[in-house]
Amino acid sequence: MIAKLIRQNIKNLQPYSSARDEFQGLDAIFLDANENPYGNLNRYPDPHQAALKAKLSELKGVPTAQIFIGNGSDEVIDLAFRIFCNPGRDQVLICPPTYGMYEVAAHINDIEVVKVPLTEEFQLHTAEIIKQTHEKNIKIIFLCSPNNPTGNSLEDIEEILNTFSGLVFIDEAYIDFSERDSYLRQIAKYSNLIVSQTFSKARGLAGARVGMAFSSPEIIALYDRVKPPYNVSTSNQKAALKTLHQPSLYTSRLQAIKSERTQLLTALRKLKVVKKIYPTEANFILFEVEDATAIYNYLVARKVIIRNRDRDVKNTLRVSIGQPGENQKLIEELKKYEKITAH
Ligand SMILES: *Cc1c(COP(=O)(O)O)cnc(C)c1O
Repeated sequence: MIAKLIRQNIKNLQPYSSARDEFQGLDAIFLDANENPYGNLNRYPDPHQAALKAKLSELKGVPTAQIFIGNGSDEVIDLAFRIFCNPGRDQVLICPPTYGMYEVAAHINDIEVVKVPLTEEFQLHTAEIIKQTHEKNIKIIFLCSPNNPTGNSLEDIEEILNTFSGLVFIDEAYIDFSERDSYLRQIAKYSNLIVSQTFSKARGLAGARVGMAFSSPEIIALYDRVKPPYNVSTSNQKAALKTLHQPSLYTSRLQAIKSERTQLLTALRKLKVVKKIYPTEANFILFEVEDATAIYNYLVARKVIIRNRDRDVKNTLRVSIGQPGENQKLIEELKKYEKITAH
């Protein structure tokens, strides 16, 4: 089933064979990769990220053959295009308002984007999505749950998984902040499902650029063939592995962010300038005001930077959950704004 989705040039690809592919083992004199024999970061990284994958496999309950590690989720997204989508011919489907990178990656790869906007409640228009898959040459459906920038989780993904025979890419960058189950369990059932997660959000490693994809062994093998051999640096592999060995730090910070989210929601609800707050299962809050651009500019002048999402959802702002003092400062500034603009 996957075979007929792959681009012909990728099927025929002879992948690069690195020095580390040709000899594996630690106890030897390494004169095979033109490395400098001196220094700390003088050796190439493990192209297979074996230590990191072994730990992830144990934590997530997924075999290592079903795990891919990328240079951020951005690489996981880009590779999906390069493996499956024929430039100038194929299409992908997205459900806006959603993460901007799906569309950017599509345009870089010369792939047309079919848009089926979310409903008023920011849920999937499942019937319309399925209709589009019959009419167009759609290779991948991108779903983001919890969704950025709306913050809510998507219902009815199962229906798409049961109907669509192309690839379903579920972006779970914010899954740790949600009480819902990950779609990870479903990769055993659907060989066309790719679940992506990241070290950038709940794991606190946005600076390290480490993303993950979980999928069928066939799809992961394709990812491994197409990726640059040394796509994740030694330092970044180590940083990722280190967070996995600090479960209590991860849990306590996650708890702190979730409890700050509750506090911030309460404080925002009390403000008159806030017209509507959208439900969130992520580490950010989308809320509606009368004039998003005016508030955004006011906050920027006060050196508090949030995101103006007016272009996606009229008069909305998106704020990431910060440290308690940072969130307090935001609320104080919004209160001042309220006073200044009170009629
Ligand atoms: C932040 C975010 C990511 C993370 O991307 P990285 O490249 O791993 O930092 C992925 N998807 C969504 C929807 C995001 O908001």
